[in-house]
Amino acid sequence: MELDLGPELRSFRDEIRTFLSEHRIEQLAGVDPLAGFAGQAEEDSENRAEAWRQWEAALASERLICPQWPSEVGGRGLSGVEMAVLNEEFDRDGMPRVMRGMGESLVGPSIIVHGTDEQRAHFLPRIIDGTDRYCQGFSEPDHGSDLAGVETRGVVDGDEMVVTGQKVWTSGAHLANTIFTLCRTDPDVPKHRGLSYVLIPMTRADGSSNGIELQPLRQMSGASGFCQEFIEGARAPLFNVIGGLHNGWRVAMTTLGNERGGRATTMHLRYEREFWDLVDEARKQSSHTDPLVRQDLAWAYTQVEIMRYSGLRLLATLAAKREPGPEASINKLFWSEYHKRFGNIAVNLVGAQGMIRPEGPGYRTDRWQQAFLGSRAGTIFSGTSEIQHNIIGERALGLPKEPVVG
Ligand SMILES: Cc1cc2nc3c(=O)[nH]c(=O)nc-3n(C[C@H](O)[C@H](O)[C@H](O)COP(=O)(O)OP(=O)(O)OC[C@H]3O[C@@H](n4cnc5c(N)ncnc54)[C@H](O)[C@@H]3O)c2cc1C
Repeated sequence: MELDLGPELRSFRDEIRTFLSEHRIEQLAGVDPLAGFAGQAEEDSENRAEAWRQWEAALASERLICPQWPSEVGGRGLSGVEMAVLNEEFDRDGMPRVMRGMGESLVGPSIIVHGTDEQRAHFLPRIIDGTDRYCQGFSEPDHGSDLAGVETRGVVDGDEMVVTGQKVWTSGAHLANTIFTLCRTDPDVPKHRGLSYVLIPMTRADGSSNGIELQPLRQMSGASGFCQEFIEGARAPLFNVIGGLHNGWRVAMTTLGNERGGRATTMHLRYEREFWDLVDEARKQSSHTDPLVRQDLAWAYTQVEIMRYSGLRLLATLAAKREPGPEASINKLFWSEYHKRFGNIAVNLVGAQGMIRPEGPGYRTDRWQQAFLGSRAGTIFSGTSEIQHNIIGERALGLPKEPVVG
């Protein structure tokens, strides 16, 4: 179903369709720009590098990289509804969007809201052109859900911040050149008030160590998409403190709001494709007539449809220029719990084959094994399911606050 969202959006949809038909690069069709984290095979990535550069240039010329950012900072100022149309068209055409990871989705929006004009002018173009690649240094060994308790210390030394501590579960740290961290700069005030949001270069300008030692962590899927960092006296200019000294909590809340909201309006597209691929798999295995398999598939289908309708509801909210409410937590909880159960259904459906890894070097997994193992992470990152339940209970439903033990 394609929504009729009025003449302006129809003409925007046509513009994107024309762009895609004129610039389509066959070699990139079907490439998942997020595949790296899942550890999927990247054998032909070298061959695709040139095609990717051409595709980036075509998108950049139309300001279609970070297009949701305001035009004053290099984006196109696309609204939430326009972004949904854009994502839908790219998805329909099978072409990948060029996305700048956490720079685009987390740090950029936080700098746009909390940065100074000078910070916006310096940091944002470097995200758009791919110069700076960010990773998120929030979680620590003892502070994940309890983010406000972070212990990594930041001390002002002249016009620099000197940071010491440990961060963990940092997705893509091995691919990033800058880590955005939350660190404690005033230990003598209540915990939410003594934090600063600092962008720390992973290495010094001359390429030498900036006191950040990376240690890759392996996931149970076999991929190694994240690291822990031992930080000893890493230096960042005070210019890299976003939102002002000791004001990091507010900035971090903007970051987390963006992280949980995600691409809720088009989330169902990915899961819909995956669902129909599993139906094909069932047909191949001749299990599609088994009543229990049919029951599982029917459940999955209804969940994807619910996601689609939630996406439409969010679109309607955005089209009416209303701020989304607790949808971010509801959507995050819904897709992550769905996908975990879908992973179970998929490996049950493929049966004993699901226990045998594919041939080839390294710790390979096929897509159903990947869905089963990888989906476990979804209910943990960006705030666990329990934390989302708390947010929905307390902030959306107005239930009494969770009792604090001790
Ligand atoms: C794949 C993946 C990628 C990640 N990437 C990043 C990243 O890039 N950067 C980053 O900073 N972090 C990242 N994380 C870390 C993630 O944010 C934390 O794992 C998460 O916030 C939970 O924190 P924790 O692991 O310390 O668990 P804890 O906070 O110790 O929680 C343990 C258990 O207790 C429950 N719990 C905790 N507090 C409450 C409460 N108040 N009420 C009810 N139950 C509660 C939790 O739900 C959980 O089940 C990633 C995690 C994963 C799995």
